[in-house]
Amino acid sequence: MNDFRRFIIIKKKYPLKQKMASYCLPNNTTCWPSQLDWDMFNLTINGGLAKIDPPVAIEQCLDTFLDGTLAASTANGACMAHQECFLEYCELTRLLPEEEETRILEEKSTLFSYDLPEYSVMAKEQSDVVNAILFANKFNIPVSIKSSGHNYAGSSTSKGSLLIWMYHYDFPPTISTSFQDTCETEFDASITLAGGTPWGLAYKAVYEDGRFDILGGGSVNVGCCGGWLGGGGLTTMSRFRGLGVDNVLQYEVVLASGEVVIADTCSNTDLFWALRGGGGGTYGVVTKVVYKLYPQMPMVQLFLALEDRSDHIESSKKFVEAWVDIVDPPNLDKNWGGYWSMNCAHGGVMCLNFKFYGSRQDAEDTLISKIEDWVKENKEFSIFVFEFEGGYLESYQSPQECPDNHCGSKTACELFGGITADYTGNRPTYTRPVTWLIPESFYDDPESAKQIYIGSMATNWDVFGGLGDGYILGGAINDVGTDDTSVHPALRMAANSVIGVAGTDGEFSMHGIDYLKQKIPDSAPCFNHDGEPWKLGSISEWQEAYWGDNLARLQQIKSAIDPDGRFNAFQSVGYKSIKDYNVDIEEPITLGESRVSAKCMNSAGSTNSISLSVLAAFCALATLVFAS
Ligand SMILES: Cc1cc2nc3c(=O)[nH]c(=O)nc-3n(C[C@H](O)[C@H](O)[C@H](O)COP(=O)(O)OP(=O)(O)OC[C@H]3O[C@@H](n4cnc5c(N)ncnc54)[C@H](O)[C@@H]3O)c2cc1C
Repeated sequence: MNDFRRFIIIKKKYPLKQKMASYCLPNNTTCWPSQLDWDMFNLTINGGLAKIDPPVAIEQCLDTFLDGTLAASTANGACMAHQECFLEYCELTRLLPEEEETRILEEKSTLFSYDLPEYSVMAKEQSDVVNAILFANKFNIPVSIKSSGHNYAGSSTSKGSLLIWMYHYDFPPTISTSFQDTCETEFDASITLAGGTPWGLAYKAVYEDGRFDILGGGSVNVGCCGGWLGGGGLTTMSRFRGLGVDNVLQYEVVLASGEVVIADTCSNTDLFWALRGGGGGTYGVVTKVVYKLYPQMPMVQLFLALEDRSDHIESSKKFVEAWVDIVDPPNLDKNWGGYWSMNCAHGGVMCLNFKFYGSRQDAEDTLISKIEDWVKENKEFSIFVFEFEGGYLESYQSPQECPDNHCGSKTACELFGGITADYTGNRPTYTRPVTWLIPESFYDDPESAKQIYIGSMATNWDVFGGLGDGYILGGAINDVGTDDTSVHPALRMAANSVIGVAGTDGEFSMHGIDYLKQKIPDSAPCFNHDGEPWKLGSISEWQEAYWGDNLARLQQIKSAIDPDGRFNAFQSVGYKSIKDYNVDIEEPITLGESRVSAKCMNSAGSTNSISLSVLAAFCALATLVFAS
């Protein structure tokens, strides 16, 4: 661990008023199961039990470098995509007294306060899940659930818990042309996915079948059906086909009682509603999801990049003007979706990474021609267009052989069948996103919209990357009622999101997000990409911020189906802390480069310090160029 990152600590005080829980925890010998109890339990779950040894686990996870797919299947489920989430609330040294700082710098990881489950169950079949819950009930142990470990706030890892690890659940993606839900409604194209299936496996199955399209997560490593759906499920296809939750036909769930239920439009309708946006790890273990498929259609991809950064402030202003006037989010054709990066002019690579679901001609008519004309006048920007006749899933494929650790995508490439770079695993910098949803009404006054975006960037013109990287939203997402699913109503009224980065890079783009919040107070964070609940206030305050007017119903459902709080996930409804955190939080700042970035830099052929988004965009573009 000698080359672990260096950091300094800034003292911050956050209002974390905690509700203490009364679980049986490992330090309580009067209630904690004996070794014999654990051994007997292991016999009921096909030998899938593993004791988590934090220092060993963290070393194994860090050794996966940037290979997020490898990390997801390593160390009995202990790894997170952001490895800092091994530690209390993802904070490196949160509870350490200030005088320890010097010693930390010398001894580094030995002083971390680990936030890992005590035991993990590798759940391969339904009975493993049921028996794990019954065992946890018998001994009053909190249960955490994990699929991929991608959650930014660390909500799939919880100290002292029994972890139900769904990544290896043994059920292959299964396509059907005749699914019937419990209302007896027939669906002629659907896929059944296991609760822990990474999107890459679902994409591979649908692509190999060759008939359909599916909308899913941008990263092939993200789990289809746990946290992603629990937060709504944002995709580049969402303006066209809705959020992930708008495409779920049915869930199979193991409840806190150990009962297995089906939830859909006609059965367990409260649960069906809660699972569609009310957060992961809260209402039960999702073991299967039946999900809509669509006929395959061609896709066109558009990148807008800034080539000449000599006047990044002027270029930033120009791009934001084009975003408001030319892209015009509320009115853009809804077959377009994708990502934008507000301050790409300074640190990012791609100002737009957009996808159009339809023909090249329609893509030209609805946006590409306008951007091409704009680029003629603004020569520091360049536009790149790629076509994928085989649709969205073809963009994930590559005719090349799997590269050797090409930016961490080796395992994904081997498992999912293409160069599908995902730079999770051991992150090069300690960063967690903070977000804000921008309502469609914000664009009613275009000049004011431009000034507010420029004002948010002006909080720190020199921020390197980070601010921006949001989704364009709206379209079909906003055709669904604000309480038809449990996502925050603001997500049904948004035109786009803005994602900033907080954490060890010294508030990075946090001030820009704060500025947007002040100017647009009537909105909300974007749950799936918000990794800093404590920055939104106390537990009740961040719950309010994440679910708004849908929170009260979610709380009722949680109390009714899990009265003992068996499922206890940070950043979730009904969360109960097992620790007293009414203390100062010490926020670490990373200095220097970790061994991970160095490794990926070598394979990507770049130099020194480079942000993750730059790297991601570089690799994405490289992948596309190779593939086309
Ligand atoms: C590289 C990267 C790319 C991303 N891309 C997207 C994107 O394109 N769109 C988007 O909307 N979000 C995206 N996200 C955010 C992502 O949706 C969240 O991080 C989400 O929480 C991940 O869910 P998971 O189940 O894969 O992760 P985990 O960390 O395993 O779990 C997250 C939460 O879900 C719960 N959970 C997991 N499995 C189950 C289950 N089977 N049953 C019940 N609860 C479960 C956990 O307890 C935890 O609370 C991305 C994140 C990263 C790091």
